[in-house]
Amino acid sequence: MTHPFLDLAPLSAAHFAAIERRVARLLGTEQDVVIMQGEALLPLEGCIRSGAKPGSTALNVVTGPYGQTFGDWLRDCGAHVVDLAVPFHTAVTARQVEQALTEHPEIDFVSLVHAEAATGNTNPVAEIGKVVRAHGALFMVDAVASVAAEPLLVDAWGVDLCVIGAQKAMGGPAGVSAVSVSERAWQRFTENPGAPRRSYLSLLDWKERWIDGGRRALPHAPAQLEMLALEACVERIEAAGLDAVTARHARAAEATRAGALALGGGRSGRPGLSGPSALEPYVHDAADAAPVATTLRAPAGTDASELVARALAADPTLPLVAGGGALAHEMIRVNHYGPDATHDVVHATLAALGAALGDMSGPAVDLEAASRAVTAVWTRPA
Ligand SMILES: *Cc1c(COP(=O)(O)O)cnc(C)c1O
Repeated sequence: MTHPFLDLAPLSAAHFAAIERRVARLLGTEQDVVIMQGEALLPLEGCIRSGAKPGSTALNVVTGPYGQTFGDWLRDCGAHVVDLAVPFHTAVTARQVEQALTEHPEIDFVSLVHAEAATGNTNPVAEIGKVVRAHGALFMVDAVASVAAEPLLVDAWGVDLCVIGAQKAMGGPAGVSAVSVSERAWQRFTENPGAPRRSYLSLLDWKERWIDGGRRALPHAPAQLEMLALEACVERIEAAGLDAVTARHARAAEATRAGALALGGGRSGRPGLSGPSALEPYVHDAADAAPVATTLRAPAGTDASELVARALAADPTLPLVAGGGALAHEMIRVNHYGPDATHDVVHATLAALGAALGDMSGPAVDLEAASRAVTAVWTRPA
């Protein structure tokens, strides 16, 4: 008996290259796209180790936990690192980036996370791209949490290195990832004696052995199941239309935000407790909120991880998670990944959060108002 996962024909080089072309189209890029055979941290680390070196200065924008990881890699490469950190409840502005570039004209590499699933904020890459371009630095963007959730225009925005994974808004596999590499990025990598070569982290190996050879022979056995899953999720996005998919994510985020505000009602401030009296959006300004995930702040006196555990006990399929690390007690994350960015899922998630808050004798909640707010956002004409 043949098994659907096991008895597959080998994935040809031509098929692999065709999937790369489809991913390039999704990103709006004519640049080289390489599909890396590992989770997105692989190309992210590969880009940094290829682009940074002793003597270079990097501007590392920190708007969440991934930016902190990038800073560690950059320092590990011997680069001088200028960290530009903003509070996780906001976004960085192009003006702040411009100021850092003016203060440190020696900056030759900029790393930025587009959207942060972990903290729920999103950064204005188009505007930042303009100031980075004007300065001349190489521009790396982690778009794992933004691809398919919001507009991402790699070439129009002047992004030299754009890394994506399929496991968030694309609704695809986590085991493969992709990176677009501009001509000037290849140049920089080639001139860097410390760039990984003959290594699993090496982007230059893919250029020499795969791209420069006309994409005719794969350097090693591809992650076949993940490649097929990646192709399937790109096909699904193409069929629905990329704009429709990003619009659905935007609506899920907006509906969650509106529903959470309506749910809290703000009716029962509890004296003696500092912090919000009701569930409220973690990202202050809606314009800074990422369409891929909505983060909420638990009411004062209510533990976010306990709230999430209770809601999940009622329905384990809900896309809910408490904040990571130090944020576990205060942050609730509602993920809107791919198939979860729907009216019904948002509705059910807020209902479960409301019921859990009621169980925990938190502030009074208004489930009806939350339900109306979600539906109002969802049914509003585009
Ligand atoms: C999810 C995500 C990644 C991938 O990391 P995982 O920990 O494997 O999920 C990378 N960058 C950003 C900004 C992400 O949101």
